[in-house]
Parts: sequence; structure tokens; C-alpha cells
Amino acid sequence: MRNYKWIMGLACACFLFESCAVNPVSGKKQVVFMSEAQEIAMGQQADPEIVAYFGLYEDAALQKFINEKGQQMAAVSHRPNLKYEFKIVDSPVLNAFAVPGGYVYFTRGIMAHFNNEAEFAGVLGHEIGHITARHTVIQQRNAMLGQIGLIAGVVLVPELAQFAEPLSAGVGLALLSFGREAERQSDELGVEYATKINYDAVEMAEFFKTLERQSEKSGGSSVPEFLSTHPSPAGRYATVKKLAEEWRLKVDLENPKVNRNEYLKLIDGLVYGEDPRQGFQEDGKFYHPELKFEFPVPTNWNLQNSPSMVQMAPKDGKAIINFSLSQSTSLSDAATKVLEQYKLERIESNAATVNGLEALVLVADQKQEQLTIRTLTYFIKYGNYIYQIMGITSATDYNTLRPVFLGTMQNFKELKDAEKLNRKPDRVKIKTLTQAGTLAESFQRFNQPDSKFDELAILNGMLLSDRLQAGTLIKVIER
Ligand SMILES: [Zn+2]
Repeated sequence: MRNYKWIMGLACACFLFESCAVNPVSGKKQVVFMSEAQEIAMGQQADPEIVAYFGLYEDAALQKFINEKGQQMAAVSHRPNLKYEFKIVDSPVLNAFAVPGGYVYFTRGIMAHFNNEAEFAGVLGHEIGHITARHTVIQQRNAMLGQIGLIAGVVLVPELAQFAEPLSAGVGLALLSFGREAERQSDELGVEYATKINYDAVEMAEFFKTLERQSEKSGGSSVPEFLSTHPSPAGRYATVKKLAEEWRLKVDLENPKVNRNEYLKLIDGLVYGEDPRQGFQEDGKFYHPELKFEFPVPTNWNLQNSPSMVQMAPKDGKAIINFSLSQSTSLSDAATKVLEQYKLERIESNAATVNGLEALVLVADQKQEQLTIRTLTYFIKYGNYIYQIMGITSATDYNTLRPVFLGTMQNFKELKDAEKLNRKPDRVKIKTLTQAGTLAESFQRFNQPDSKFDELAILNGMLLSDRLQAGTLIKVIER
């Protein structure tokens, strides 16, 4: 609920504070919908929510790197006086995003895909560009509100939207795509800022190729915002290449930095893909090796795992199961908190046991104008925590869905399977070639499976047929 209110507050702010200001980049007067103070406040409010949603990636050297480069670039930008923050978030998805007021985020997924510092710098400049050119306008409101009520691609029926993870709305702000014109301007600014801190901005164009290959491989499902509003990455590539050459002459940069080996050494050991330690789905079950539990996922339901919640929903969006940790220390207190939080009326509550664990079962209703929402919640004491598994649907559908809810709730139990408890994440490992050969031959020498060659070629920003010299560094994936 917290975030939902915040989004509504934001919408109001946009209407109330429309005013005219000079754009820091263009120097032209433009209609803006918020003051700089409001922009900063928006970022300050969104930042903890974004961090809570994705989690920060724990690697002090990498966080230091993005912050140093970010601050250096911000200082030569059009808005050097904002207080910027740069963070790497713990997401396998390939993306980078900016929030008004000076907040920039890169996923560990995109960090794994850069092949030198210059590619990174180009994207960093692009994101700073969204902030300095104030690409935050009223049209985004709709896209943002559209984020509400979405679980792993399932659109919930409107009455259930309030039960979707509220954080996804705050994150919606970060993941908005800007218009084509804004993206074009950010490309330009990215080139300018990267060149001004001595990087070869041509590499930014090279990175578009990686994005394009990645999006082709995933069938367009994981297209980051850089590409989403650009139907022609080829045109964008040519434009950025040309701009990069112009800016290099303009600032008289003789030896632009690329820093391939430096970058690769920095990301040696980076977690790649989903991190099973944060929970993973396999054979119809969800396993959490660190918290040591498992539960079945209803058949054909989609699952979304974020640091604060696991949410499941059927494809028709008519129900949700929310799995989370209660902040309470007793079962009855946990139940009271849920009743308050969702304004529910208790129908019944009973003590129960779930696979030997002490539990409390609560059935409660929320009366809405058009219909009644019925919830079934299991509060289960396990280890040092109280787990809260809440099934939500309309009172009409409740009897049909109750057995589905119970299938998950009553089968929550301790995870004992050693193989699953010890599941390790894949990592990017940097290897030095001891002999010359093609990229494909090199992968073979490092025992990479054939099935992964195409993915690995994209990760390296190369073709399998590329010939490499001895001494070249390449990325492989190891566990
Ligand atoms: Zn962008």
C-alpha cells in the first residue's frame, strides 16, 4: 500500500507543479512538471525502494568502480551540482536505468556483458543524460500506473492489484522507457560525457551490437530500454559512431581509453544468471537454500521472486499467493498486522501444524464496492522467522481456489536435499589464452559446453569464428 500511495502522490505532483524552466542541456525554456527540489525528493523516495526490490550486488570493488566513474562523469555533465548516487543492483537482467534527481543503477547482468570500460562509460553517460536533460515527464505516469497489478507478466484483475508487490510500482519509475527523442538525446550526451572523461565513445556503439544480439536470442523478451524505443539499432549505431568521432576531435582526445583487460579483471567472479542462493524454481517447487525451506508452486502459475516477497499468480490473474516474512515475533501478532494492513475482517482463525511446524490459519475478507475479496493466510513458525503465505481471490472464486492455496501452504517444509542446499551460482571467469585459436576452440579448451557457445560469444562481444592471439583474455562461465 505504501507505494501505491506514493505513485498517486506523484501523479498529483505532476498536475500541481507544472511550470516553465530552462533545460540544463538545451538551455531552452521548456515546460517541466516538477522543480529540481521535487525531482530530488522523487529520487530520494524511489532509491530505497529500488534497492529493496533488486538488492545491492555485494562487491565492494565493483560498487567503488561505478561510483568513481559516475562521480567523475557527473562533474563534467550539464548538472554537476546534483548529488549523484551510482549503484549495481543484484539482477541477472541486462539493464541500466536512471531516476530523477541523480540516481543511476546498473544490473550485474549488464556489467557481465560489457567487454571494456569504454562500453560501460558510454551507457553510464547515456543514463546520466536522462537525468541532466530532465527526461521525466507527465506521459510516464500512465506507464507507471500500468506497472501496478503485474506479477511475472500476469496482469491481475483490478480488484487484486492492491495485493501485488507494492515495490514494483516504485521500480516502475526506474524501468520506464523514455520517448525516442529522449533516447536519441541521451545517446548524444552519453558520447559527450564518455569522451570528456577520456573514453572511446565508439565502444558505446559496439555495445549496441551486444544488446541487439541478446535481444534476438531472447526473442525480444528482455529488450532493455535502450532498444525498446529504437526500431533501428543499426541507425543508432551509425549515429553514435559518427558523434563519437566528432566529439573526439572537439575535445582533442588523442588516445581515448578502452581498458579491456582492466575491465575484465574487475568482473572476474561476477555472479551470472539467476542466483540460486536467493531461491529457485525447479520441478514445480520453489527452493530457498539460504532460508532452508521449500514449497510447491501451483501448476501453470507464474512466479516472481524479489528480495522481499515471492508472488505467484495464475495466467488469468484471478488469484495471488503472496509469500513473505512477517516482521512480528508471534503468530497472533502477525495475523493482527495483516488484518490491519489490508483492512480485513476476520472470518475465522485456528491453530494448526504444518509438517511439524507451529502455525496459525486465518480466513479474512475485504469488502470492496463491487465484490468481496477473500484471503486465506498461513502463518508458520520456522527457525527464527514467521513465514506468511497469503492466498487472495474473490469470495466467488474462493472455493475453487482454496485447494490450490492449501497445496502450497500445507506443503511448506524444511529443505533437506543437500544438492539443493549447496546449489552454487554460475560466475563469469576470466581466462588467459595460452595459445592462438578461434573463440570456439578457446571455449572448448576451457571445457565450456557446446550448448552455451552462442550465449558465450555474445557475452564476449565476439563471433565464434573470431581468431584470437595467445594472451587474450576471454570470459567463460563456471560454477
Ligand atoms: Zn535511455
